[in-house]
Amino acid sequence: MEKSIWQLPFKVIRKYQFFRRSQYWSKDRLHDFQIKSLKKLIRHSYTNVPYYTELFNKIDLRPEDITELTDLKKIPILDKEIVRTRTKDLIAVNARHYGMNWDSTSGSTGKPLHFITDNSTQSAKIAALLRSYNWAGYRIGSRMLSMQSYYFSDRNYKYNRFYNVLRFDSNRLSKNTILDLIAEINHRKPKFIMGFPFDIVMLVRYAEEAKKSISSVRAIITYGETLSKSRRTILETFFNCKVFNFFSLHECAALISECEEGNLHLIDVFAYHEVLDTRQKPFKDGIGKLYGTSYYNLAMPFIRYNIGDNVKISDPGKTCPCGRPYPVIDEIIGKQCDFIETPDGRLLGAVMSHSIDNAEGVVCSQCIQNSIDQIRVNLVTDPDFGQNSLIDLEKGLRKRLGDRIKLDFKQVSQLEKLPNGKTPFIISNIGNKYI
Ligand SMILES: [Zn+2]
Repeated sequence: MEKSIWQLPFKVIRKYQFFRRSQYWSKDRLHDFQIKSLKKLIRHSYTNVPYYTELFNKIDLRPEDITELTDLKKIPILDKEIVRTRTKDLIAVNARHYGMNWDSTSGSTGKPLHFITDNSTQSAKIAALLRSYNWAGYRIGSRMLSMQSYYFSDRNYKYNRFYNVLRFDSNRLSKNTILDLIAEINHRKPKFIMGFPFDIVMLVRYAEEAKKSISSVRAIITYGETLSKSRRTILETFFNCKVFNFFSLHECAALISECEEGNLHLIDVFAYHEVLDTRQKPFKDGIGKLYGTSYYNLAMPFIRYNIGDNVKISDPGKTCPCGRPYPVIDEIIGKQCDFIETPDGRLLGAVMSHSIDNAEGVVCSQCIQNSIDQIRVNLVTDPDFGQNSLIDLEKGLRKRLGDRIKLDFKQVSQLEKLPNGKTPFIISNIGNKYI
């Protein structure tokens, strides 16, 4: 294990160089790479992954039947419910050989999920993300402000000299901590800001309210929830620089990055992406579901994984003036939720979604804030749910929310829907609406 940790930086550098080199490949070259990678993945999955051996035998499919990208549709979709209920069968019998790193996520629907990514996938993800930041002008060593869930026990922010990053703990976001942070930003002068759109928008809000200026930055990099047009405008106007949005997920089955031209690219050298309509067919114009296949995760292959987020496309054949061969989409329609306000004045947006990852038997969940000191937690559960699940849930939520807020857990048959049909993870009935 220790050996693999030490090998990681070298693997990251190698992969990063590969991603840098391959970004201006021709479409044909990219296509050859995709076919080769998918064939290898499918052969491996059929031989070593019990779930895929069983599935392929059941539908009478052999790895040799997959010769073109269009053949991939012969393989049924993998959804979160299958990953949740057949976790063990999706792990390759030789997974140890590739490295096994357990991870969990709640995704955009609040459904907790546990899975493995291997060492190669982890280094590919870091390298691919570094290349995405690169498109925003970031170089290794550039000073960055990162607003994220760090769980600092004793302070609101910390500066890390080695990575040259000023880290602000989003769990502590309040008017006072932001004003404190602004003073530190003006002292450290980071050139890039990275974080959830909500957190950076609140930075702007409080700066404007207190009539404080913030030292200039070259670019803002956002992720983790939907970047609405209004949020983008707020950030680009205040900082007078471009926002680069990206989308990734813990399962590493997709990556979308915005280039200098403002186009969102499906990074097809990291994962194979499909955008399909409700009948799981490709289409030309409109909103569809995103499915992804990771080329790298041989320890636990995700093939045609239903990511659960929608994307909008209007011209599937569109090429981008940046010259990169990756498909262009119009919009990522991902997580979009209100935010929670705690009695001690903290505001918690999309950062909340990982609070309930570790409770057994929770199929999906939702926080509804009805007053400043009360939240109802709606839970859809399965038979594995028990007293310990409740204890784990409360522990996870208290870590973020503190002790002064009352939590009422309620088992429901389905989550509350908004008039637009969406089921957001947070619904605020005290006016803290999604901007
Ligand atoms: Zn581009």
